[in-house]
Amino acid sequence: MNDRDRSPTGDRPEVEAFVAGLPKVELHLHLEGSMRLHTRRALAERHRTGLAVRPEGVPFHDFDGFIDAFIEGLSLLRDATDLVTIIADMAADLAANTVRYAEVTTTAWLHLHDGKMTPEAYREALAEGRALARREHGVELAWVIDIPRGFETPAETFTAAFLESPNCPEATVAIGLGGPEIGYPAGNYAASFARAAALGLKRVPHGGETAGSTYVTDCLERLHADRIGHGVMALQDPLVVAELVRRQVPLEVCPTSNVLLKVATDLDNHPLAELRQAGVRVTLATDDPGYFDVDLNRELVLAHHHGGMSTEDLRAMELDSVAVSFLDPGAKARLSAEISAYQQV
Ligand SMILES: [Zn+2]
Repeated sequence: MNDRDRSPTGDRPEVEAFVAGLPKVELHLHLEGSMRLHTRRALAERHRTGLAVRPEGVPFHDFDGFIDAFIEGLSLLRDATDLVTIIADMAADLAANTVRYAEVTTTAWLHLHDGKMTPEAYREALAEGRALARREHGVELAWVIDIPRGFETPAETFTAAFLESPNCPEATVAIGLGGPEIGYPAGNYAASFARAAALGLKRVPHGGETAGSTYVTDCLERLHADRIGHGVMALQDPLVVAELVRRQVPLEVCPTSNVLLKVATDLDNHPLAELRQAGVRVTLATDDPGYFDVDLNRELVLAHHHGGMSTEDLRAMELDSVAVSFLDPGAKARLSAEISAYQQV
């Protein structure tokens, strides 16, 4: 963080203190992108690889550059023990940000397609990590299993079938769609999303991050998205923005990710404020904190300084994030009451 992030009114410590204690939910976070530098170093040491471990927070040349780093990090994950390790480290980070509940995306295909891990071991590791997160950190986790774009048919058919199988991890709440967008419009995956919906799963594709507003329309019209990852390119077309507002489909907005991946030039020119002004529901999230040197507290503080959100706007956004999460009604009511009652000490 540099000096330009400091508020001229000198209210920075107060905002930070408010955000630090505010109970939160995180709805756009990739398990495989959550690995902090210390976690990746520990894994590299465990497996005695000579891999140079990429630092956090360095801007990427483009989205493909990020995918390369992501795949490199993935190569550090060799077995179920590693998976439990990264879930535990992620849960510790979430707890440090007073996150009570997170819907975490994991790309099953990347772990399972080459036999590195069995589907049973993957399922058990996620269950063990989830129990550990609850027991040791007081964080409740649910899973979004996504189809990675860019691998085409094998990854898609594998993921759709895996979601229907007995090995689908406990607490899987939604199907996702990740990876590079351009050339892979969301509509291509409509059949798999319909299969997942028939199982009772929610639909949360990435769309309109690196590609244009038609990719957001595709998520709405063809995938019947319950929420959309990023979606910031909707602003290219007022009709798409109007449709997001009409349908009340929220966007999972990740400003730091957008800047580091050059989706936005900088935080002052990030579309968060414009989307909110237009009436689009948004939830702030970190995407891949292990590569972006960000956590949810900092994302909220940055939204105050650069996105014009007051502390009460941030509280209202967290309440709305609970509303658009896939928690059951009882858990939503309890967490909402906790957020509403929160007083900064
Ligand atoms: Zn993402």
